[in-house]
Amino acid sequence: MANNIQKVVIIGSGCAGLTAALYCARAQLAPTVLTGAMPGGLLTTTSIVENFPGFPDGVDGTDLMINMQQQAERFGANVEFGSTAENVDLSVRPFNLTVDGGEMLAQTIIIASGAGHRHLGLDSEKKLDKKGVTYCATCDGALPMFRNQPLVVVGGGDSACEEATFLTRFASKVYLLHRRDELRASRTMAERALSNEKIELVWDTEVAEILGAEQDKVTGVRLNNNKTGEEQVIDCAGVFIAIGHVPNTRIFQGQLEMDRSGYITRIEGAQTSVPGVFVAGDCSDKVYRQAVTAAGMGCAAAIEAERFLAPEDQ
Ligand code: NAP
Repeated sequence: MANNIQKVVIIGSGCAGLTAALYCARAQLAPTVLTGAMPGGLLTTTSIVENFPGFPDGVDGTDLMINMQQQAERFGANVEFGSTAENVDLSVRPFNLTVDGGEMLAQTIIIASGAGHRHLGLDSEKKLDKKGVTYCATCDGALPMFRNQPLVVVGGGDSACEEATFLTRFASKVYLLHRRDELRASRTMAERALSNEKIELVWDTEVAEILGAEQDKVTGVRLNNNKTGEEQVIDCAGVFIAIGHVPNTRIFQGQLEMDRSGYITRIEGAQTSVPGVFVAGDCSDKVYRQAVTAAGMGCAAAIEAERFLAPEDQ
């Protein structure tokens, strides 16, 4: 059995996971990457990525991730396409993972399982996804379809305020819809949004439907005031949903320290509360959530895994 024990298993194949894979592979740790159900992670859901350094003309999100995968494979990473860690037992080393129904043993694990965008849960939201409905202003805000158009941002937290403010660079007007009459966002972020003359706050309001399914692109939103019951329609070319994220950490619950929202706690550097288990990217980062920061954290986790294993390799 001993020769079946992996030195490093990386859970997740977004920027964090594949950067960790590249560094582990170059350190001759022959990492196994479990890509999960969404190989390449969240970046593959966006079109052009314009803020990843090194690409002056931007890069297609999927192309970027394929390049990262190939780069890691070139140095010996074993990428298990579509494989998912269904369960883990972190109580004893080697750690035991249930992967696609089988058992896998690992001396170290790098968790880079990412986070998903929280959805409103509307049928119309699903139908118009990528047709004007988006979850990332930084990624999509500058697209031609949104230029000089009225846009809607949903949410009342820092993300929503930040996205609304960012979108004023491109939009003719930004409606910021919040379900309460008070923003959750930090004071600075809220004041920045409230004082921006291109942003109109629409309070106590929930999205009942995103309009435009017949035209195959967003044309507006039907809203419901949850205090007065009043309905209104706002015309817009885009709906940016910024109502929080959900970290993909369910299988680690009860085994690793996490905050109340499920983000894995980093004890020191990339180390989690269990020695030998490291973490990188959006599953432990609710502040930056950028491709480049995730890649940096993946690099850090790989270096720490290598250092952790070094005494055992001697
Ligand atoms: P958040 O703070 O959890 O805020 C989510 C917002 O969405 C809340 O206003 C919430 O309304 C609303 N919401 C949740 N579910 C909803 C639903 N089903 N329908 C309508 N509205 C819904 O999330 P976040 O803004 O993404 O921020 C997450 C963390 O990252 C925070 O700690 C934040 O400070 C941090 N962050 C920091 C920065 C920065 O420092 N630059 C930028 C972005 C985020 P309620 O208020 O009514 O609950």
